[in-house]
Amino acid sequence: MKTYKIAVLPGDGIGTEITNEALKVLQTVQDHLSDVRFELESFDAGAERYLRTGVTMPEETFHHCKEADAILMGAIGLPEARHPDGREVNGDVIFRLRFDLDLYAGVRPVKLYEGVVSPLRDVSRGIDYVIVRENIEGLYASRTGGCNVRGEVATDTIIMTKTGIEKISSYAFRLAEKRRGRISDGASMVTCVDKANVLSSYAYFRKIFDSVGEQYSKIGRDYVYVDAMTLYQVMNPQMFDVVVAENMFADIISDLSSATVGGLGMAPSGDIGDQHALFQPAHGTAPSIAGQSVANPYAMILSLSMMLNWLGDKHQDNSLLAAGEGIDQAVQHILSSGGAKTRDIGGNSSTTDVGDAVAQALKLSA
Ligand code: ATP
Ligand code: MG
Repeated sequence: MKTYKIAVLPGDGIGTEITNEALKVLQTVQDHLSDVRFELESFDAGAERYLRTGVTMPEETFHHCKEADAILMGAIGLPEARHPDGREVNGDVIFRLRFDLDLYAGVRPVKLYEGVVSPLRDVSRGIDYVIVRENIEGLYASRTGGCNVRGEVATDTIIMTKTGIEKISSYAFRLAEKRRGRISDGASMVTCVDKANVLSSYAYFRKIFDSVGEQYSKIGRDYVYVDAMTLYQVMNPQMFDVVVAENMFADIISDLSSATVGGLGMAPSGDIGDQHALFQPAHGTAPSIAGQSVANPYAMILSLSMMLNWLGDKHQDNSLLAAGEGIDQAVQHILSSGGAKTRDIGGNSSTTDVGDAVAQALKLSA
């Protein structure tokens, strides 16, 4: 019997609702796996906790997350929960975990499921690529280091380190090796998105990306400037397989990508390091729709699927890999056969309807 410790952070707003549905699905997975046990521990961390106690995430909770085999997170933050200097408190959790657990790769699959309407005109060739975001350097690393002279001048510094770029690039190439080639001729490809024509930091990013890429002779390399990237994401998303980019650029192109596949409610993500990993939907706590059971839990459920795949890979545990794949197939089946859809993707099912449907589909396929 193998035991996996999962630290669960449901968080705030719709975070708690969608976490319930993911846990419902995980329970179904557990019921069908005789040789695996998930030990779940839920922690109260987030904006509500901050408003109540002045502490967003106690040290002890961070420690539990560090000890866990994986972290599953709903969403954290509320507009009214801010530090005296104006910073939102969600950083106390997500930045702490990203930086201190070295979760350097932000992994954002972009996949259009049959049955979900895309705003793009022609999606007959599907949309299926992954954005790999450098998660702990880049322009966002400047966050508290910028200078603001007499409140009149503000600067930020982009941080690009050789080690950081090497790590994120090799993550992207290894991911491309793992994926079957999704571009037209079945080859695998990593696209580097940057602004190497204007900024030396991005030229450096590209140079290191290239030197890493030379070690992966079977994987193609492509380069797209970030402005052109937004155009291709809309006009020709089929040209992408794995995309790698600096922190801020990847953040921006990720939101655009999710819009092309049904919106934030369909966008799962992983914050992944060599030892630790955290899985959460790409969206936030959406307080305006919280508590009404209308939030779309698919992004959260697909993040759970990513978690099982990651654990399966790391521990060479095929039953976990099968479970991760099974969830993705269940979602695929429900959406393509006119099953449960929340209103953001054109249906009228509730949050719990979707969780029930995925759990039911898993039971039937077991
Ligand atoms: P945060 O500040 O935490 O990002 P937010 O209010 O900006 O919170 P987001 O979660 O980023 O909310 O999403 C923006 C909008 O997208 C929401 O107000 C909501 O309308 C929609 N949205 C996001 N996630 C979902 C979801 N899972 N289901 C349905 N709608 C969603
Ligand atoms: Mg938001």
